[in-house]
Amino acid sequence: MPLAPTPAAKPPLTVLICAPRGFCAGVVRAIDAVEKALTVYGPPVYVRHEIVHNKYVVESLKRKGAVFVDELDEVPDTTAPVIFSAHGVPKAVPNEAERRRLFGIDATCPLVTKVHREAEVHHKRGRHIVLIGHAGHPEVVGTMGQLPSGAISLVETIADVERLVPPPADNLAYVTQTTLSVDDTEAIVAALKRRFPAIASPHKEDICYATTNRQEAVKRVAPQVDAMIVVGSPNSSNSQRLKEVAERAGCHIARLVLRAEEIDWTVFSGIRSLGLTAGASAPEILVEEIIDAFAERFEVTVETVSTADESVFFPLPRALREEAAE
Ligand code: SF4
Repeated sequence: MPLAPTPAAKPPLTVLICAPRGFCAGVVRAIDAVEKALTVYGPPVYVRHEIVHNKYVVESLKRKGAVFVDELDEVPDTTAPVIFSAHGVPKAVPNEAERRRLFGIDATCPLVTKVHREAEVHHKRGRHIVLIGHAGHPEVVGTMGQLPSGAISLVETIADVERLVPPPADNLAYVTQTTLSVDDTEAIVAALKRRFPAIASPHKEDICYATTNRQEAVKRVAPQVDAMIVVGSPNSSNSQRLKEVAERAGCHIARLVLRAEEIDWTVFSGIRSLGLTAGASAPEILVEEIIDAFAERFEVTVETVSTADESVFFPLPRALREEAAE
């Protein structure tokens, strides 16, 4: 009797998985805030902007009764909660919610709020503020919206710093977006200090612990692997930065993917090692999905490369804490 053909052996693949990766304390708090509000008040719960930049998270909250809007004028007159996203909002937004007597709940990450307060203090001291960040990102829109128009100048690059003509050039301070590339920001800060030696700096870096730690882990893993996958959304700033960090650390194939179904397998066909991480708004279940998809095509061995331990926790926004206590 002829023997049945043996299936071709799968090629071996070592997956180096970065730690820390994925959800940060600010994202956990924002998602918990929406879920808590749904439990306490029932649907609908309105959420201004994607609560965090991840379609999977947004879709699962929608299924539970969250209604996502771009602006408050899409919210009807209602007693239902209206939650502001983790990225922070311009002051005009809570002011408008108050004017309309909406029940606003602020899920802005406390580390973004810290930057808002820093900017306010500098402004009170008569300083003009230079914000290092990406134009149009909701966090940047929110930070600029803490102060009157003209109080903050945005710079994205060293070239922007060279062109900058601040109103009082001798009384400046800088703050940054929380999710920037650590290395790019260092270079921009150095350029600012060269041009404006007296510029006031943040007491503690504005780039948050989660961004810094995820980039450090990628720097360790990227030079050791043939390819790198960052699980995250294209509109997630910290996920985009992780992909750039991987490329700069010497990994020639770095891809940002939201779900396993997006993977272009032709790119990964000849690899023997893969680095894997996830942006701060990407849930672990999507990392597992990617590993499973590789395991269908490769004989996978998973190793964790850990560069930091994280134990940061932020309590829920006050309105929901009080509700929980009652
Ligand atoms: Fe907060 Fe950083 Fe997470 Fe943004 S990435 S929500 S600043 S902890």
